[in-house]
Amino acid sequence: MGLPDRLALTDLPTPLHELPRFSEAVGARVLMKRDDVGGPGVAGNKVRKLERTLAAAREEGVDAVVTVGAAQSNHARATAAACARLGWRCRLVLGVPDGDGTAPEGNVLLDALFGAEVVVAAGTTDWAALAERAEAEAAALRDEGCAPLVLPAGGSTPLGATGFAAAYAELLDQLDARGLEPVEVLHASSTGGTHGGLVAGRELAGRGPAVRGVLVVDGMGGVIGELHAWLAREAFTVAGGAPELALAPDDLDLEEGFLGEGYGVPTAEGLDAIRLLARTEAIVCDPVYTGKALACLVARARAGAYAGGPVVFWHTGGWPAVFTAEHAAALT
Ligand SMILES: *Cc1c(COP(=O)(O)O)cnc(C)c1O
Repeated sequence: MGLPDRLALTDLPTPLHELPRFSEAVGARVLMKRDDVGGPGVAGNKVRKLERTLAAAREEGVDAVVTVGAAQSNHARATAAACARLGWRCRLVLGVPDGDGTAPEGNVLLDALFGAEVVVAAGTTDWAALAERAEAEAAALRDEGCAPLVLPAGGSTPLGATGFAAAYAELLDQLDARGLEPVEVLHASSTGGTHGGLVAGRELAGRGPAVRGVLVVDGMGGVIGELHAWLAREAFTVAGGAPELALAPDDLDLEEGFLGEGYGVPTAEGLDAIRLLARTEAIVCDPVYTGKALACLVARARAGAYAGGPVVFWHTGGWPAVFTAEHAAALT
């Protein structure tokens, strides 16, 4: 693979753990890829993307990052952490519905701790408007003599997604070493960089378990599926794959049935899955992302989808969100 350079923000490979008590409870052998470990700053799936995008940016003389997200954005927090490590300025445009929603708890607390400048975009939650605001903030930083990089929601660029193409190869090495052939790899999905990268990694390897993404955002009538497929095709090319990958949204395994009422709104089955994992393995998932994906895994396990082999749950992080009044209320 001709993978782009990586800035080593975290220790790789992340562990691949057996979950004996959780497996027994759901009636299937479940392994977990632990991208949630590594500390509140550098843990979570956004780190693998930042390791690629920021390595290239550093080569180009970038010294600041502007990005966008919801108030409790894990990507915003990971970007703040990465910038602290690099000594770069970081400006986060956080879109919130009416009211403010940016109490200093969970990821918002960490953003401040890592020294990020937070711009609250009240009443702005659509991605296009947030992206526009980010460009305006980047222009302001340029006026101050900075050289900012603007990253989209979730840091999901083709270059960022190559971090997950590499992650797929990392997982294959771990599976090969143990002689495991899982039925599938399952993970939470929103902006598509994780899914696109993993799918590209599978195509580059030409083998390995299927990749199932569980959408925790509205599919927007196919727009999100298009974004995922585009990221997979582009990441494949950026990582040195040839010829171009012919991949349509219909070729992807994206689950839309576990979203509930919408992004960030907990579901009963998600909360149940979080409690089950916590009480059997002492591992924490969050109600926004990983809890909903885990609920999908539990439902599939109980329906017999993993009778033929193990399943790998890719823990994408996000647990700082449980330390907010809103989610604490749902979880207790
Ligand atoms: C962002 C995020 C995801 C989704 O990853 P995408 O690459 O944006 O699709 C999943 N889990 C957690 C915890 C996240 O923060």
